[in-house]
Amino acid sequence: MLIFRLPGGLNPLQSKMSETQPSAQIRRITREHAPCLNCGLPDLTCLCGQITRIKTRSRFVLLTSPKEFTRPSNTGRLLKLINPEQTEVLAWERKPEPDSRLSELAQTPGVCLVYPAPFSHPRRIERPPYPAPVLILLDGTWQEALKMYRKSQYLSQMPLLSLPDTVQSTYRLRENQLPSALCTIEAAAICLKLNAENESAQWVQQTFETFQQHYLAGLAGHVVKHESP
Ligand SMILES: [Zn+2]
Repeated sequence: MLIFRLPGGLNPLQSKMSETQPSAQIRRITREHAPCLNCGLPDLTCLCGQITRIKTRSRFVLLTSPKEFTRPSNTGRLLKLINPEQTEVLAWERKPEPDSRLSELAQTPGVCLVYPAPFSHPRRIERPPYPAPVLILLDGTWQEALKMYRKSQYLSQMPLLSLPDTVQSTYRLRENQLPSALCTIEAAAICLKLNAENESAQWVQQTFETFQQHYLAGLAGHVVKHESP
């Protein structure tokens, strides 16, 4: 497994590709407006200047499918913008062994993979295992996440944090989503709640809702009018 990291950056794929070819672009959702390369929204409704950053106790590591980097509806990118110091983005590639960074993470106290597991699974856990957990999230479609899990044996050695299946997703930017299939940032918000970081969880969820409003407005070529406080 080859993982490359872009310190402080948002898009490892761009960094990798820039050496040999033009940057991988986040897909546009309108003809008129180019996507912002930080938040992914059309430049008309870019949110970057409006995001209040937080620093959570939980640390998130996003193992991101290469295709996910180009999707404007990617919510891992948004988590990195909200919580930059405690969110690390790694690009997943199909390799049998983890690279040194993932091997290092695997040895970190409190590391776990956020992934559904049956009740009888010996590594299933229902709460983060440590006050400052390291939570690995598979960032991609559910089909891609399943593939990443199956093709990365080292992930199956980690405790599996299974989120409550009673939570319904409010993600509405992709078609054919199951109501119970949470997107990356929704999963992160639930992890924060489970770790008693309720204010951060609420802020992440609220910013995610704003992101969706801005996305849909941008798609229609409108700006979002926020009421004055
Ligand atoms: Zn932006």
